[in-house]
Amino acid sequence: MNVSELFVGAYARIYTYSGILVVLAMILVMSVRLFTSRRRKAYVSLTLSVAAFIVHYAMMISMSLSIDGPRGWGGLAAQTLHVVAFIMINRAIYQLYNSTKKRHHLYFYFSLLVTMLLAAFQTNVPRLFEGSPEQLAALGRIGLDLYLLLLVFVFFIGVPDRIGQTATYKIGLSVFFIVHLAHLINRYMLESPLSALTLTELYLPLLYYIILFVLLFERIVELMQASYRTAITDGLTGLYNRRYMLSKAAQYMRHGYAVSLLFSDIDNFKKLNDTQGHHAGDEALKAVARIMLEESEDIGLAGRFGGEEMVLLVTDSSVDIAKLSEKVRARIESEAGVTVSIGYSKSRNGITAEQLIAQADQAMYKAKTTGKNKVVKYVQSKGAAAN
Ligand code: GH3
Ligand code: MG
Ligand code: MG
Repeated sequence: MNVSELFVGAYARIYTYSGILVVLAMILVMSVRLFTSRRRKAYVSLTLSVAAFIVHYAMMISMSLSIDGPRGWGGLAAQTLHVVAFIMINRAIYQLYNSTKKRHHLYFYFSLLVTMLLAAFQTNVPRLFEGSPEQLAALGRIGLDLYLLLLVFVFFIGVPDRIGQTATYKIGLSVFFIVHLAHLINRYMLESPLSALTLTELYLPLLYYIILFVLLFERIVELMQASYRTAITDGLTGLYNRRYMLSKAAQYMRHGYAVSLLFSDIDNFKKLNDTQGHHAGDEALKAVARIMLEESEDIGLAGRFGGEEMVLLVTDSSVDIAKLSEKVRARIESEAGVTVSIGYSKSRNGITAEQLIAQADQAMYKAKTTGKNKVVKYVQSKGAAAN
């Protein structure tokens, strides 16, 4: 065996295709796993497209082992599968970022239909045209080959603006384009294949599938992070939700940190909703939340505890909670168009996060009953007042 045989011959095909199969198998495992946990359409498309690619490359390997190479029905099936898989993987990427609209289903089925028509054309070439078997085979194949090239352009124009990771996606398509172009030139334009082009055709596809893997992996990490964020935050205000605030407060207190808790409740909020509408109410909530968030920066966490109750968990022990509470109250009064009643409490040894919150809530209630739009510090009811 000579060196060129080693790098571009039938054996070369077997190991580059095997490498591709490994990457595809990893994507397949990932997408099946995703599908079993969340039944999104995108994961179905992804799984199907990867399965189609796998069958395509398995066929290519088995055909490179046979003396004929990819020819006849096997060749046609492998080529058709390749086009179908390429359409499906791009659809899957689109679906990972978008909910599929009817129109997009139509594009998809239309592109599959064209693929099938071109495949049917290929089988009928010997009946429709005359020429040597090689010429007829080339004529048959060129339809699908050119169509694949066209698809690369269509996806390049249509998809990037509608998905994230535009750059990665475009690089992937460009790699695919270069591979396919090398393939076209080698097969249809040259008497005998150029080894540089053969090398491109053989080895660059692996890069394409690695880029695909990276793109999908990134997207999944993105989705995981987003679902984690929605699990711990409140949709309207973006502040942390009650459960997360409770767990954070408990975590700090368990480790013996001195924390303080500010509990606020908007005054006469029901009246605002009733007189100015729910939308105005929501806007006021957002304005208050923004102030809470700004004030919590670097010193703790802000959360929405209930309807119009927001809390600030102060974890920086150098902060004067009394001053901070007054500042928050004054800022809300002047900036948010509503007022709040605030209660606060400082953690002491032996109390739980729930108790700390209940104390601040109790102080807030006192602020409500003694005039509203004020700050009240929690004072232990029995015996001496605690700090
Ligand atoms: P107080 O000064 O005693 O706190 O009176 P209030 O009217 O603020 O208190 P109350 O608890 O009676 O009313 C709270 C209202 O908050 C009732 C509910 O309609 C409103 N609310 C709760 N969540 C939301 C929300 O997400 N958006 C809007 N717009 N209103 C909400
Ligand atoms: Mg309330
Ligand atoms: Mg209220």
